[in-house]
Amino acid sequence: MLESIRNELLKLHLILPASHLVTWTSGNVSIRDRETGLVVIKPSGIMYEDLRPEHFIVLDVNGKVIEGDLKPSSDTASHLYIYRHRPDVFGVVHTHSPYATAFAAIGEPIPVYLTAQADEFGGPIPCAGFGLIGGEDIGKLVVENIGQSVACLLKNHGVFTIGSSGKAAVKAAVMVEDVARTIWLARQLGQPAEIPPEMVEKLHYRYTHEYGQ
Ligand code: 13P
Repeated sequence: MLESIRNELLKLHLILPASHLVTWTSGNVSIRDRETGLVVIKPSGIMYEDLRPEHFIVLDVNGKVIEGDLKPSSDTASHLYIYRHRPDVFGVVHTHSPYATAFAAIGEPIPVYLTAQADEFGGPIPCAGFGLIGGEDIGKLVVENIGQSVACLLKNHGVFTIGSSGKAAVKAAVMVEDVARTIWLARQLGQPAEIPPEMVEKLHYRYTHEYGQ
């Protein structure tokens, strides 16, 4: 079931190692189907290059497995918690992308130093506290801390991103790493200056309402 979502999920998962956002089997992506409300997610601990469309697991938002033989991602309960509490979200991504996770390691949110961050995120990227892997703790931390952003760091752990589609959530995961990397480089040269909030708002509006075709 949900064959087109399975195929899309495979393509999206392959973007993670290609964009240097994951190492070995870390990270995961899920998509919520707009028609049935079912969620499709990565199996736990499978190498990205070995993933096949039939490996993904279909669950309802309460965690009941509808289709799939493999054990779902260790972050499944957290993805489902996010979907249950954010009806606007249809894609969730988790990575340990290194530059963004460096901020998470020291528990620091990412202030808006770059127009690219204002465009994509419309404000600082928050850093939530520490949560244990395996249950819904992480999902709860994301829902409580993400605010209007589409990315949230998790202290000592990594990054969660959300989106109106799987692709949007993967894009946010790529962008948060790009922003964190540039800020890390900037900090080698000096202390970057924050963009004033009223400018951030204008940049975000232009990007979300006028940019592109
Ligand atoms: P899974 O392979 O179970 O999705 O775990 C990866 C991970 O990054 C856990 O935080």
